[in-house]
Amino acid sequence: MKKIVIANWKMNGIQTDWQAWASHAAQFSGEIDNAEVVLCAPAAAFHIVSQQIINAPRISLGAQSIHSKECGAFTGETSLNMLKDFAGDYALVGHSEYRQMRHIEGNQLGEQMRACVRAGVTPVLCIGESSLEREQGKTISVLDEQLEESLKDVHFPNPEDIMIAYEPVWGIGGVNASKTPEVQDVKEVFRFIKSALKERFGDVGLDIPLLYGGSIDAGNVTSFMQELSIQGVLVGSASLKFDVFEAIVRRVNTI
Ligand code: PEP
Repeated sequence: MKKIVIANWKMNGIQTDWQAWASHAAQFSGEIDNAEVVLCAPAAAFHIVSQQIINAPRISLGAQSIHSKECGAFTGETSLNMLKDFAGDYALVGHSEYRQMRHIEGNQLGEQMRACVRAGVTPVLCIGESSLEREQGKTISVLDEQLEESLKDVHFPNPEDIMIAYEPVWGIGGVNASKTPEVQDVKEVFRFIKSALKERFGDVGLDIPLLYGGSIDAGNVTSFMQELSIQGVLVGSASLKFDVFEAIVRRVNTI
């Protein structure tokens, strides 16, 4: 199974930055053969990014969020048609920042997951517990509920048509995270996610690509990938630094 590195630029950059980040990634992508890079850009950057990566191998455009409806009176939202018009292939669903800002209810994320699969866009479902939930020992029940409400009635022909990213909310933000996660902190969680997916989807569930996100950098990416036996990583802060992001991708490429 191919490895994957997803950059989440969040609400950062202006045209010159987007152009530089995307063209840099397009350049080094020619030297990688075992990893796929996805650039989850702000919708305002879709055009620039799509132009930069048009001829680059193994790089795709992704959205940071999408709306499940095709069009209509949904001010501020991005549709799957808009993403696909720029040849975007991936969409984050339920990133913790998005959940918090939009007061998301589980049902909406299930709709987004189903809309992505229908549209042929790979949804990357983000799940994760807050630091309070972790302290209260609720990690597994929170994740279980998030999986339950977002995966209900999601049917996909191939396990690689969806992805699940575990991102502990307390571990997001690099140097600004409330705690920098260690592999040991999240090992048990991945065991749970694998068993929950097997229970839900049978053996197919074991082939759904799993990603980890939260304070990944060039120094810790290899151990997270290898010790958790996962398919990839979701990278926020470090994706905004050319050299660090390139180093992360190159490391993942050699695993
Ligand atoms: C994220 O917000 O998806 C993320 C992984 O951020 P960071 O890498 O900065 O922790």
